[in-house]
Amino acid sequence: KPIVAIVGRPNVGKSTIFNKLTGQRLAIVEDTPGVTRDRIFCDCEWCGNKFLLVDTGGIEPRIDDGLLAHMREQAQIAIDSADCIIMVTELTNGVTPQDQDIAGMLMRSGKPVVLAVNKCDKIGEPPMELYDFYSLGLGEIIPVSGVHGHGTGDLLDAVCAHLDFTRDDED
Ligand code: GDP
Repeated sequence: KPIVAIVGRPNVGKSTIFNKLTGQRLAIVEDTPGVTRDRIFCDCEWCGNKFLLVDTGGIEPRIDDGLLAHMREQAQIAIDSADCIIMVTELTNGVTPQDQDIAGMLMRSGKPVVLAVNKCDKIGEPPMELYDFYSLGLGEIIPVSGVHGHGTGDLLDAVCAHLDFTRDDED
């Protein structure tokens, strides 16, 4: 089945979104950046379409100590094996240099990417700051709130539009 990987710098809410999408508390969510270690997998189904969702440790491309290098390696493995990638960033801090680096890494992979701008907690009109994220050059932007669960349906719709469910190989 198709593989969908969640990537992004630490603390943007990848684990929170992963938990919302899977409906299970499989990933650890904490305030300390980089708490999600290695990769965590979950079978998902959306509108009858089955895929494997992979959460990765945060990527921190501008720092290279042992753990961050390891997390980056894990994320790269997930990107390489993915059919579609959800890049997560957060509304709160705007576009950061790390976001630009990660977006570059993803574009080089040539894989379809959906950008989830997390922490859009207020319902209603999308905030103006959301449009800044078009500068990352990834195209599609979905505002979400991992905590409240807003936008997760739109996110899954956007992801599934990139996946090929006609392949009849099991796993
Ligand atoms: P990760 O390192 O990218 O996996 O981030 P986590 O999922 O561990 O979340 C990091 C912090 O952001 C935690 O304190 C979460 O509670 C918080 N957080 C996650 N999603 C949201 C959201 O939609 N809105 C707000 N306000 N906070 C969030």
